[in-house]
Amino acid sequence: MDPQDPSAGRPGLPSSPSGRVPQWIVDEALGLAAPAEPWRSPGPPPRRRRRWGLWSGLLVVAAVAGAATLVDPADLPWAPPLPQASPGAPPPPARPTDRPTPNGEVVRLAPLPLPPPVGGTYGFTTLQDDGVTPVAYDPCRTIHYVLRPDAAPPGGEQLIGEAVQRISAVTGLTFAFDGYTDEPLTTERAVFQPERYGDQWAPVLIGWQSDAENPALAGDVVGEAGSAAVSLGDGPKVFVSGTVALDAVQLPEILGERDGAATVRGIVLHELGHLVGLAHVDDDDELMYPEARRAVTDFAPGDLTGLTALGSGPCVPDL
Ligand SMILES: [Zn+2]
Repeated sequence: MDPQDPSAGRPGLPSSPSGRVPQWIVDEALGLAAPAEPWRSPGPPPRRRRRWGLWSGLLVVAAVAGAATLVDPADLPWAPPLPQASPGAPPPPARPTDRPTPNGEVVRLAPLPLPPPVGGTYGFTTLQDDGVTPVAYDPCRTIHYVLRPDAAPPGGEQLIGEAVQRISAVTGLTFAFDGYTDEPLTTERAVFQPERYGDQWAPVLIGWQSDAENPALAGDVVGEAGSAAVSLGDGPKVFVSGTVALDAVQLPEILGERDGAATVRGIVLHELGHLVGLAHVDDDDELMYPEARRAVTDFAPGDLTGLTALGSGPCVPDL
């Protein structure tokens, strides 16, 4: 056992082959990245403030990427000019260039899952203006995603695919894999990229990165994820795209550990929880606790309650 590791000798915890019990901060809980911290009970106010403050920082980045209020044009959808339009008729509204053609869907694509067991803790990354209702993806719209395969470990794609199936099952949101991309993985990402992805919101981008490529993954941080929201006029904010960055160095190492596959699966699910709008909680029985634990590798009751709410967002057919 590593005498420097405060978790050494703690009963009930599996040891790695080296005898140490490595723990990995799941993601953007910067500042908490010291391996000595994880097994302490969550210290309330200071750590909480740091986490939320940090997440707020990420949201600012997402805002740059496109959490924008779009101007409501006079007419929707934007019809092509009619050939029979008389010379004196006013021109049809110009088609906005900052968004795709709206899909107009008002029926959710999949039923909402049954309510989860009551209990547990959950929180949301982004709220509507009422300060209560979470911002969510549109359940009437397929969430397309693409993979950036660079630096993916063996089995990485399958792992992501299974995690996406799981988040889909527990939210009732519909996902579709659109293939591979060489788009750079950055949080400062345009949510509408017609040259690359055509007339749709840019698909969610999932990929693998090293600390050198993404400083947010430095230290024990193994993932970063979030989504960008837009709104139309005074309408509800809705997530339309997002990114998930997975640590290309540490996660393959964890995969090689005993029970590593389940741990990494839990980490990917945690990141997908962020993607659809779950925030961290101080309850270490939940998967959205900021640190990865071998004991919790799937969504717990609080996570599931939050995910059900995030699968119940409004349909926004004009976006
Ligand atoms: Zn997290």
